[in-house]
Amino acid sequence: MQKDDRNPARDRELGMDRPITRRDFLNGMAVGVGGVVASSLISGFASAADQSNLAQNAPGYYPPALTGMRGSHDGAFKIAHDLRDGKFWKTAGTPIVTNESYDLVVVGGGLSGLAAAYFYRAKNPFARILILDNHDDFGGHAKRNEFRSGGKLMLANGGTWAIESPFPYSKEALGLMTDLGIDPAALEAKCHDRKIYRDLGAACFFDKETFGADRLVTSEPPLVPGSPFAANIGLSKTNGKARPSWAEFLAKAPLSEDARRDIARIEEARVDYMPGVSQTEKKDRLSRMSYKGFLLNVVKAHPDVVPFYQSETHDLYGVGIDAVPALDCWAIELPGFQGLNLDRVPGPRISFTALGFVTPAQAPYFFHYPDGNASIARMLVRTLIPGAISGHTAEDIVTASVDYSKLDAENSPIRIRLNSTVVGVKHVGDHTSAKEVEITYGSGKQAFTVRAKGTVLACWNMVIPYLCLELPDKQKEALHYGVKVPLVYTVVALQNWTAFQKLGIDRITCPGMYHTRMQLDSSVNIGEYKSSKSPDEPVLLRMTRTPCMPGSSARDQQRAGHYELLATPFEMFERNVRDQLGRVLGPGGFDPARDIEGITVNRWPHGYAYEYNPLWDPDWPIGERPCDIARQRFGRITIANSDAAAAAYTDQAFDQAYRAVQELLAS
Ligand SMILES: Cc1cc2nc3c(=O)[nH]c(=O)nc-3n(C[C@H](O)[C@H](O)[C@H](O)COP(=O)(O)OP(=O)(O)OC[C@H]3O[C@@H](n4cnc5c(N)ncnc54)[C@H](O)[C@@H]3O)c2cc1C
Repeated sequence: MQKDDRNPARDRELGMDRPITRRDFLNGMAVGVGGVVASSLISGFASAADQSNLAQNAPGYYPPALTGMRGSHDGAFKIAHDLRDGKFWKTAGTPIVTNESYDLVVVGGGLSGLAAAYFYRAKNPFARILILDNHDDFGGHAKRNEFRSGGKLMLANGGTWAIESPFPYSKEALGLMTDLGIDPAALEAKCHDRKIYRDLGAACFFDKETFGADRLVTSEPPLVPGSPFAANIGLSKTNGKARPSWAEFLAKAPLSEDARRDIARIEEARVDYMPGVSQTEKKDRLSRMSYKGFLLNVVKAHPDVVPFYQSETHDLYGVGIDAVPALDCWAIELPGFQGLNLDRVPGPRISFTALGFVTPAQAPYFFHYPDGNASIARMLVRTLIPGAISGHTAEDIVTASVDYSKLDAENSPIRIRLNSTVVGVKHVGDHTSAKEVEITYGSGKQAFTVRAKGTVLACWNMVIPYLCLELPDKQKEALHYGVKVPLVYTVVALQNWTAFQKLGIDRITCPGMYHTRMQLDSSVNIGEYKSSKSPDEPVLLRMTRTPCMPGSSARDQQRAGHYELLATPFEMFERNVRDQLGRVLGPGGFDPARDIEGITVNRWPHGYAYEYNPLWDPDWPIGERPCDIARQRFGRITIANSDAAAAAYTDQAFDQAYRAVQELLAS
């Protein structure tokens, strides 16, 4: 089901009329505090709409517990879009002058913005800092989703999934993590229970719309046996059990003979498809062709193999194999390159991922908190605003309580103001001599101004030209260049995982379906937080969707995906989730009407930072890439955020925050 196929009888079967649907029906409607209480009593979940009209200091304001449409939630982008479309100032009226004055105003309360406040305060312990963010929660992409089932707390990452990076952490990024008490390797060893799903494996679901028949083929062989990369990023297709051969797996798949033969060849044959060509030349050629092109034109595989591999790159790149360079696919250990004998050393045109991955002596910075890197955001806030968040360790943060009413307290030197979209940033006077910057933000239908000695724009590059009209044109053009990658992380609360147990699987690739991957949430036990221990207990299922449109450039695909996400109502996500789970897990006894307890769709129309892609972007030297031009200091305005690195990783967000703060202090 790829479109909005409404069918009342099928909807009933799927459970579209179950209580969760009623809650989501409220989406977008303003209901008051009474609504929160009523809904919470019925279900343990509150819909996103329930709190839509609460101020952040109102009793009951607690965004992590909201279900329904999250991520970039309704209301978060209205002001920014109105500003872009020239509508904001027609309705906002004259801004209210708050007379608030700060040392620093940070625009954007994601990991980069919070880190900027942290680095600034480290140099200036008495600094007064205001952080403004358009979302109802802090953390940006590092968003926390909470569910409760029978009183049990279940956590998921709404966005930023784990501490991991193809880069070695810089001294500053690592220093920040250490200051917060985070030792990823130690936490991983202590808290991640890799045994719980030990007897389960990977499967592939072939859907009838793409492959002619609905069929779940379990016991998929590992894509690359023992792949350190796959294990690190959680894509490992084996839990250590012996797997059947590709021939056995493919014999069960509804694929043509040509596809079966060529998939087995791609996976297993050690053929040098470029005999006599040097390493450097091979890498250069691979960087200029897509993985799809490599399979079809170099490996000479039958086109029927393409649907099987098409979505392999979705999660990491936000586009399919038609738009990812073959060299990157070699670096992330997709098959077909076994016989090419490529070395993991950077070549002249080695691609982004490969360049990072081959970095020598890289420490294993991998750890997935149950709520992803939202725990890092919470730790940053706890150190910035003591008293707002309980506890003091990197483990107790997971179940720590947050008092949102303390985030923007008048007497606090550091304040976080949510639901506040910055619409204007300008120097008070000429930027070469000004002593202050004026920042205007919109909240509700009203605009407000505050002043600061300087500002770090830790928001998305593409919004900055609309806020900061005084920037040079060349810089504005560079800021506009990247198109952020749209993504959806859907989290489904299930009553139990007995269907997975019966089928012997914990993760399923669904190359042709609405969500192309789904997997049981990692089992992490940390502090007081305990993950599901047995198949009879409730669990969270993570599903990912990448709304790309194969056939155009990566940037065009991302633009189209962005619009698709904004136009897709929650109901359509829900129908697709229920349909998909029913079809995939039905043979294990799963009933979508009975077994689904809650759904949160984390919609990110502006997800990953745009990373340069040799298929579409020129070969800029370092220093002349759009991100290098875009992040130049302008008077008392500096620019952070992972966009400033053109790299969608937490350590990059920290590094950019550090640089932006140093530039500001030096100015
Ligand atoms: C679904 C998803 C999964 C990811 N998984 C990982 C992962 O596993 N590991 C990893 O390292 N990275 C991951 N990333 C990359 C992630 O982007 C970075 O790690 C990091 O969280 C980015 O932080 P940031 O502060 O740079 O940006 P953001 O988190 O985007 O924060 C910027 C904030 O500024 C706000 N803002 C924008 N405009 C305005 C305005 N005008 N006024 C006020 N506020 C504004 C935004 O709404 C946002 O809240 C993931 C990203 C996504 C989307």
